Amino acid sequence: MAYRLSATKLSTYKQCPQAYNFKYERGLSSPSAFGSPAFGNALHGALADIYKDWNYAYPLPSLDWFAICWQQHTGELNPTQIHEGWMALQLYYEKYVVPLPMMSKPLGVEAKLKANFQVNNIEFSLAGRYDRLDYTDDGLELIDYKTSKTIPSLDGIDLQLGLYYLILEQTYQKALQKLSLIYLRQGQKITFDVTLEHHQQVKELIGDMAMKLRADQDWKPTTGNHCDRCGYQKYCSAKSEKPEPLPKTAKELQRVQLVLGF
Ligand code: SF4
Repeated sequence: MAYRLSATKLSTYKQCPQAYNFKYERGLSSPSAFGSPAFGNALHGALADIYKDWNYAYPLPSLDWFAICWQQHTGELNPTQIHEGWMALQLYYEKYVVPLPMMSKPLGVEAKLKANFQVNNIEFSLAGRYDRLDYTDDGLELIDYKTSKTIPSLDGIDLQLGLYYLILEQTYQKALQKLSLIYLRQGQKITFDVTLEHHQQVKELIGDMAMKLRADQDWKPTTGNHCDRCGYQKYCSAKSEKPEPLPKTAKELQRVQLVLGF
């Protein structure tokens, strides 16, 4: 069976192989810093409908179309969230729809992506998802909507770019040119150009992980500022003089299945 990888898993691995091992190999949960997903789900759902259900025979939707789509997704929100979501959508409309001569139909909306990839005789299944995929004059542009209250540092973004490059290359035989993050509350769009180096970086990281999975299974701790937010400090030899043993619920380490070459 292929070993599943995602951008989140890769970036955890890059930051600290030991934390990766605790979380994904041993199956230990860590406290999450995220709040209720209802607000984000509602905004993502409304934007998906706005693009999926629009009649592209007409050049641009009106703000009323945005309001209709938003109302379909507010059932689980409180009045403050409904107000904040609507403000975010109006901002989006003014910044990213009004200036266009016409709204183009995306290549895809809210879809999952998957591709298989072999390194050191291990088959990896790479998975990702996107909010919108646009076809531009230069190639493909992935759009990811963000609903956080602040714009975080984007340390792991290179891995995301490389991973999507690999997957889209296999899926569409087209190069991914750009990845854009649209911060809906702030009305801000951050665009990254995707290069062959991103592609290479991800391949190398997967190769490194493949060696660990195949051979020593030695998931060394890598300390840094990220340790402050790590839920595994009590098990970690780099952070605690007498680390606690892993709980009985921890999964046994599995050996990966190798793909035989001919
Ligand atoms: S505390 Fe730091 S070094 Fe230890 S597992 Fe967590 S992230 Fe890794």
